[in-house]
Amino acid sequence: MSSVLEQLATSSIPTERSLPPYRLASRVLHPEDTVINVGDVAIGGNEILLIAGPCAVEHEGQVLAAAEAAKKAGATILRGGAFKPRTSPYDFQGLGEDGLKLLDKARQQTGLLVVTEVMSEAELPVVAEYADILQVGSRSMSHFRLLEALAKTDKPILLKRGFQATIREWLLSAEYLMALGNHKVILCERGIRTFDSEHTRNTLDLSAVPVLKAQTHLPVIVDPSHGTGRRDLVIPMSKAAVAAGADGLMIEVHPDPSKALCDGKQSLSPEELLSLVDAVKPLAMACGRRFGRG
Ligand code: PEP
Ligand code: MN
Repeated sequence: MSSVLEQLATSSIPTERSLPPYRLASRVLHPEDTVINVGDVAIGGNEILLIAGPCAVEHEGQVLAAAEAAKKAGATILRGGAFKPRTSPYDFQGLGEDGLKLLDKARQQTGLLVVTEVMSEAELPVVAEYADILQVGSRSMSHFRLLEALAKTDKPILLKRGFQATIREWLLSAEYLMALGNHKVILCERGIRTFDSEHTRNTLDLSAVPVLKAQTHLPVIVDPSHGTGRRDLVIPMSKAAVAAGADGLMIEVHPDPSKALCDGKQSLSPEELLSLVDAVKPLAMACGRRFGRG
């Protein structure tokens, strides 16, 4: 164990309430919300963020069109995978660094920030060169050596929930990042595996949102695309996520979902993304918040 972790593990901090094991992530020692500022975007502030983009970067025309659609809908952050964690080794694995370069082009064209996944310590230097926010995918939430490496960067980390992880385990993964020096952690609920795979890809655990809001000061966003796996469920669950208190939505959008190389079934068209914004905005207002920049 590093000396920093040893000190944190053994330090006795007097508190009125007992301290959970995720002590730095906990609200006990840090009651006020954490707001992470990146460029002109405040993550965890009054504005509920729209993060949108394709599952994977496929080619220049696709990512630029998706980025334009995201911008038009009021998004501030473009999502898109260049290094893809695919279940099958035969499926499209992403464009790698070429994909990162296309994300950079889309960022320059639209002014959107870029969030993209980093899967390994080996890929971290190149991904960090291009990303404004580094994404830890569901399959990597418990990749502790990766978390330790990410803790040493100064970029915000979007930490997706492991599809098999409890909330405690998820917060302890956030704690790895924080204990070793990176406090810019954004939590993303993306569905967990339960028993019904007939109607939904995952079970989007929206109860996690108010639970996290009580337990931690970190921003919480929701990904209803992976959370349901179904395009027709993305808008209803986006509305529910905002009503539950989410600080942002991460939505997959593709200029032509029927041609997507991955996750087309859960991807919205640009028009559907505009419908999502129309549906979510009144709810955000009812919660005293703004939704996106549209
Ligand atoms: C993604 O958001 O690109 C992704 C692969 O999602 P998850 O890690 O939640 O499966
Ligand atoms: Mn996807």
